[in-house]
Amino acid sequence: MKVLVINCGSSSLKYQLIDMSNTEVLAKGLAERIGIYGSRLKHTPKVGDTVIIEGAMPSHKDAVKYVLDALMDKDYGVIQSTDEINAVGHRIVHGGEEFSTSTLLTDDVIAAVDACSDLAPLHNPANLIGIDACKQLMPNTPMVGVFDTAFHQTMPGKAFIYGLPYELYEKHKIRRYGFHGTSHSFVSKRAAEMLGKDIKDTKIIVCHLGNGASICAVKGGESVDTSMGLTPLEGLIMGTRSGDIDPAIFEFLHKKEKLTIEEIMDILNKKSGALGISEVSSDFRDIEDEMEKGNEKAILTMDVYNYRVAKYIGAYAAAMNGVDAVVFTAGLGENNKDMRKDVCDYLGYLGVKVDEEKNNCRGTERDFSAEGATVKTFVIPTNEELMIAQETVTIVNK
Ligand code: AMP
Repeated sequence: MKVLVINCGSSSLKYQLIDMSNTEVLAKGLAERIGIYGSRLKHTPKVGDTVIIEGAMPSHKDAVKYVLDALMDKDYGVIQSTDEINAVGHRIVHGGEEFSTSTLLTDDVIAAVDACSDLAPLHNPANLIGIDACKQLMPNTPMVGVFDTAFHQTMPGKAFIYGLPYELYEKHKIRRYGFHGTSHSFVSKRAAEMLGKDIKDTKIIVCHLGNGASICAVKGGESVDTSMGLTPLEGLIMGTRSGDIDPAIFEFLHKKEKLTIEEIMDILNKKSGALGISEVSSDFRDIEDEMEKGNEKAILTMDVYNYRVAKYIGAYAAAMNGVDAVVFTAGLGENNKDMRKDVCDYLGYLGVKVDEEKNNCRGTERDFSAEGATVKTFVIPTNEELMIAQETVTIVNK
């Protein structure tokens, strides 16, 4: 069975075609600048070089056409016809309280996803456009929606209810939802295997530290708390997002800087976090380079970042009354050994002990706990596309 995984943003579309008989990625790529000048497709087949295909993509439907043409191209294609694509798995950011599992995208389901758009106005409309474009071009191929929020629907009320008037939850569904669910689920399952335990008997803290970042407490295989909230702005310091702040800063900024709601949201989402503190970059590789040169703001950025991660791990160890493994994943989690060591140094009281030699790795699965550690520390590369494809197969076969 071949599954096309689609991750559609407002002006971009990422894809992977995966052969699920052996989980081989047959081709992957990215259509960029959809709807604006200079659109192009970057396509990488399993054998051969990446090709850049430039051409007009006024809409997402055009982008999907380019993707399908690239997949069927006689030189760099990997299939003969779209009939070989047995199903399409769509990443959908927000499923609200409606979706606690992946779902076949029927017309009713698509309408329900649309109804969740208020909760993710930047993401869900783009996801829906991608679904519509694929449905138009492959009307007979089953489409499955895999939600970033679904894994966290197991959180108990004490974790998802904010300290706001309850009627705001009843009226507008204002609550913690959490994101990166596909990654937290994938990584925690693998961590249980590495622990050699039934996942039902495990307490795992997953740190998904990429450009967006969140932590999840996974008890018995279920999410019981997570750091992102109603939106992906809450929680950790991220590349450009502030994470947790005192909500009164909003009014303060409005009064002092005469900023509108939109301008403040722009600061919190796009000009804060690592970029905002370091004044260098949102990319932690640039921040590492500046740290080596002795840039104090870059050093402070990493200190603030690591401290916040460690505080959340402490909180989630308390929430679960213990922890068996702390797992690092995504761009920064998989690649930055100094961050991992620094975070783990806060956790000695829990029984975390790092073997620095084993921690010296990038992008590879690794148990980097030292001998005698009672809480394991792992690096586990995330693979959201594979997880989406696996979910898609499960739903289609039902
Ligand atoms: P992601 O969103 O998972 O793709 O992660 C992106 C972020 O991970 C980048 O902005 C970098 O800050 C960080 N990252 C990726 N690769 C490396 C690396 N080799 N070393 C350090 N940080 C990295």
